[in-house]
Amino acid sequence: MENDVLIIHKIPRLVHIFIIICIISFSVFVGFYQLKPPDPEPADISLTQFSSGRAMEYLENIAVKPHPVGSEEHSRVRDYITEKVKEFGFKAEIHSSNPSVENIFVKVDGKGKSKDTILISAHYDTVPGAPGAGDNGSGAAVLLESLRVLKASEKLRNNIIFLFTDGEETGLYGSKAFIREYPYIDDIKIVLNFDGKGCSGYSLMFNTGKNNRWIVKEFAKAAPYPIAFSSSIKAADDAFGLNDFDGFKEINKQGLNFIFNKGLYAYHSKKDTITNLDERVIQHHGTNAVSLLKHFGNMDLEAEMRNEGDAIYFNIMRSLIVVYPKIWAIPLAILTVGLFGLLVWIGLKNNMFTIKGIVQGLICFVISLIFTFEIITIIESSTERVFKNHLEKILFNDFGDIFLASFAFLTIAIVSLIYNFLGKRISTLELLFGSFAYWIGMSLYYSVFEFGTSYLYTWPILLGLIGISVVVLYKEKTVKIRSFYIAFLLTAVPYFVLFTPAIYTYYVDQTLRLSGIYMWMFVLGLGIIMPYIYIVFKRKLWVLPVVSASLSAVIFAVGSLSLLN
Ligand SMILES: [Zn+2]
Repeated sequence: MENDVLIIHKIPRLVHIFIIICIISFSVFVGFYQLKPPDPEPADISLTQFSSGRAMEYLENIAVKPHPVGSEEHSRVRDYITEKVKEFGFKAEIHSSNPSVENIFVKVDGKGKSKDTILISAHYDTVPGAPGAGDNGSGAAVLLESLRVLKASEKLRNNIIFLFTDGEETGLYGSKAFIREYPYIDDIKIVLNFDGKGCSGYSLMFNTGKNNRWIVKEFAKAAPYPIAFSSSIKAADDAFGLNDFDGFKEINKQGLNFIFNKGLYAYHSKKDTITNLDERVIQHHGTNAVSLLKHFGNMDLEAEMRNEGDAIYFNIMRSLIVVYPKIWAIPLAILTVGLFGLLVWIGLKNNMFTIKGIVQGLICFVISLIFTFEIITIIESSTERVFKNHLEKILFNDFGDIFLASFAFLTIAIVSLIYNFLGKRISTLELLFGSFAYWIGMSLYYSVFEFGTSYLYTWPILLGLIGISVVVLYKEKTVKIRSFYIAFLLTAVPYFVLFTPAIYTYYVDQTLRLSGIYMWMFVLGLGIIMPYIYIVFKRKLWVLPVVSASLSAVIFAVGSLSLLN
């Protein structure tokens, strides 16, 4: 099909390229900015606010040496926490149980007569080799500072239990014993758990109780810096027994589970020290903790807590989370399929493309996915082999970010090269609808089998189809500048805003090792924007593979050199 002549070349090509780069960079920035933790607050801010500066002072007394269950240092840390609780004007009780558990229990009574109770928990024991600044001295320090904030603030309506659990690392023994033995467990309506893995990153709310729509909505409303994606729930549930929260989920408690998990080199290692800990993760945990305690603490939980079923939710901006009921997933996917079918039918009727062309577009897209996956996987494992003496830095340190960026540019080079060779005879619309066909399948699959992840596949394509409908409905043989940018914006922005944090949180959790999969997810986006880039480059994409391959090589070299230094 040669009806691809486009009117946009009234404006110099370089201007279009510049605008496109700006749109993509801005969307990627919005995607990353969602994950930015708040800056630390110094120790001298108002006593009614959470200060990571103050929390760090407690942490300096907690994360001195490893304090595994049964050690002398463990007893010292236990005593330090109970002393601190007393200093803040509360009573600390030790809840002892078997095997070898000493939970620290603090109850802050509400001003009302309500039995409604909120439990906030964090474990204070460590594994044998780690001082545990991140895992989980940070959580214990967050609890202490939050307790102090409550003392300085107006009394809340509901009761709050601060539970510093023990024996988390030996098998969640502390939380299990508490669940088994606490006589008023029924009064606990909400559980907030804080944990740390690694030494940096951001406070991610990665698991909830069942039927989470109500609590996620409240979280989105109350927390100043909420970060949460419903796509994380399935992985969290699959890894059942991961941390203290799971026991509460099992007995059907509603709640929110928070973790930071970047800088994995420190995880369960002697490097889990205060020096290596990024103070911002404490401020992030803490600001959210205090806001949630005050929010739920003043709520008539008996009357206001509702079962609204499960939700699909995700950040679209920093501090802004979209939440909607799970039952929307399938209708949204059906709407998307319907719109796709309608546009294909209109396009076919008006000779804008052929079925054969769309199938060819789909094949071109699938080949890009598979090739990229294979090549990146090979390069990643070779990188590990070449730098086998620096594996820790590559996999568990921020160096990984540099290599990830290099792989991303290499992916652009691979995909644009494939489109150059295979896409030649396929029209822009056919390439686009070919990749859309794949997305439609994904959207349907996730909506039916894994609703928490469905948003990733449904929204970019639904909006992308709405964008391109301008061109198809008006049967534009030559795409007008306005239509071009409407369609491009509606395709590129949703993809990058949603997938940037999704890919990055996946990478943070799974390290560089799964780079093939992250780049597969990147190709999903390239496949739907490449046809537009095609238009701008008048179907001659040579510049793109050359420039991005060079960028990839330069970034890789920078990464390698800084690794060796
Ligand atoms: Zn932990």
